[in-house]
Amino acid sequence: MNRRSLALVVAVLAVVVVLCGAMVVLPLLMLGQARAEAAACDLPSLPDSPVPGAGSWGSTETTNAAVIVSVGRQRQVPPRGYVIALATAMQESTLRNLANANVPESLSLPHEGVGRDHDSVGLFQQRPGWGSVRERMTPSYAASKFYEALLRVDGWQQMRLTDAAQAVQRSGLPEAYQKWEGDAEQLAAKVLGLANIDDIGGGAPMAPCGVDDLGPVPVGPGGWVQPIRAGIVSPFGPRGGRLHAGADLSSADIRGKPIRAAAAGVVEQVKCDWYTTCDRDGNTSSRGCGWYVDIRHPGNIVTRYCHMIQRPEVAIGQQVTAGAVIGFVGSSGGSSGPHLHFEVHLNVPPGPFHANSANAVDPVSFMRAQGAPLGPST
Ligand SMILES: [Zn+2]
Repeated sequence: MNRRSLALVVAVLAVVVVLCGAMVVLPLLMLGQARAEAAACDLPSLPDSPVPGAGSWGSTETTNAAVIVSVGRQRQVPPRGYVIALATAMQESTLRNLANANVPESLSLPHEGVGRDHDSVGLFQQRPGWGSVRERMTPSYAASKFYEALLRVDGWQQMRLTDAAQAVQRSGLPEAYQKWEGDAEQLAAKVLGLANIDDIGGGAPMAPCGVDDLGPVPVGPGGWVQPIRAGIVSPFGPRGGRLHAGADLSSADIRGKPIRAAAAGVVEQVKCDWYTTCDRDGNTSSRGCGWYVDIRHPGNIVTRYCHMIQRPEVAIGQQVTAGAVIGFVGSSGGSSGPHLHFEVHLNVPPGPFHANSANAVDPVSFMRAQGAPLGPST
């Protein structure tokens, strides 16, 4: 970071510290940040309040749809997942939380219709292996279990909708989900207040929280997106007698902001790079990336994200989509204030620990070439 922006960050922090009292307040700050983030990611209506009907769907069905989409967001499922979940519930229950005439307990729980298929209940007609009767008839639980299973299906985002749904449901009518695709796309867009679900990548890997959250960032042909919208406060290049191997991105309110995978890939490293804990702010008296993540992308490209506020949200070996939240901005490790230190490495031999300053390139020119330039706006 340069001196001026460092001074700004220090000033902002000083005010915050004076107002609230340092470390005690950090969880509160993060809560506030989480709220701000939630506002940007929020559905137009709370899942537990009735949502007006949309298209041919009544308020009951649309409210259930909002719950399904909301749970998907909370779980950071790519938007394609909302569409698959909605199409599945449309086929299984026409989006009504169904009791079952064969399951007496289900009739005593709140329900919106009665089915009689085996011992299946709820929006997704889940059988006993998925949870208790009460759990399966709780829409948020049922949706959560559906997504959990969907995310375990290899390559689900590239499948036909009905194949992905069937991999989860193992229904007797494997083709039956496909006919709901258009309806599901429209209803997903409707409950999100979007004109078109493709705006947030109803099929393509893009930002999980949509255009309002990440902003209309350019997505290059290879699917690259900005890891964060913030200004460059210290560029790639020689600094203090050695190579500053990345670009520092920051703004006055950057602490706690989500950091996103710049492209699809596999998490190669998740580590605290500091001589002591990374769960608090570091300093500049020694080097270190703090909490950081390396992601390996096709073509032997590795991106690195440093100084996160807490243990990253991803694990080694995890597949991530472009725009998936991998952690939150902090100042852990050798850092002068909250910022994202972002690195790009090319021609990195397979295996961890091969991304180093010898194969680091300027992230600014690299990201510009991918059609996703770094910076506070587009
Ligand atoms: Zn840096």
